[in-house]
Amino acid sequence: MKDDILTYREMCDTEKVQTLQRGMNYRLNPPYSVILMSQRSNAPYNDVILDDNMTIVYEGHDAPRKSSEPDLKAVDQPYYTKTGRLTQNGLFANAVKRVRKGGSPESVKVYEKLFSGVWSFKGIFHVIDYELSLLQGRHVFKFRLRLSSEITNGEQTRLRARSRIIPTEIKKEVWKRDGGKCTICGKKDELHFDHVIPYSKGGSSITADNVRILCARHNLSKSDKIE
Ligand SMILES: [Zn+2]
Repeated sequence: MKDDILTYREMCDTEKVQTLQRGMNYRLNPPYSVILMSQRSNAPYNDVILDDNMTIVYEGHDAPRKSSEPDLKAVDQPYYTKTGRLTQNGLFANAVKRVRKGGSPESVKVYEKLFSGVWSFKGIFHVIDYELSLLQGRHVFKFRLRLSSEITNGEQTRLRARSRIIPTEIKKEVWKRDGGKCTICGKKDELHFDHVIPYSKGGSSITADNVRILCARHNLSKSDKIE
């Protein structure tokens, strides 16, 4: 569920894998892909959430580390491996090309590392575009991911409106303020970032005041009341 808080182990279990080593995992569990992101200062890639709070610009990945390679931050990010197979960059870029020809976009589950061992599920996104940016003399993939509401028709506008990205800085601030536990019962697992006042009722996720940590049980009992 969007804005769930997970340990690394829980994240792997959710995706039915032993480890998640790579940031980009095309169709890890078909029909969807999994992307890990980090906006931490020591993160290897520069991932950005745009001001619309719906769009992530996700940087493609460098060639795999090998002793024979020169500085990987000095060469283009590869579309193909040396043996001619598509890299993760190439797989996602091809998915965008299919969208440009009228195909439906790939669904991607995005997880973000907030702190060491603390991950948050950002929601299901669609890969809608990419470009090759020339940065410091090298080509870098920039993928555009748009938050998907997964809801159709009349419900779309209302649900879409409350289905925004809670900014990372807010999540970190709330995690620290609430001590990494449910603000009602103090439980420390199955946690979730909750809007105190939902978007649909005018609440904001731009301020930490409107976000708190709830466990699954209290999050559920709350949504029962609202719906
Ligand atoms: Zn609780």
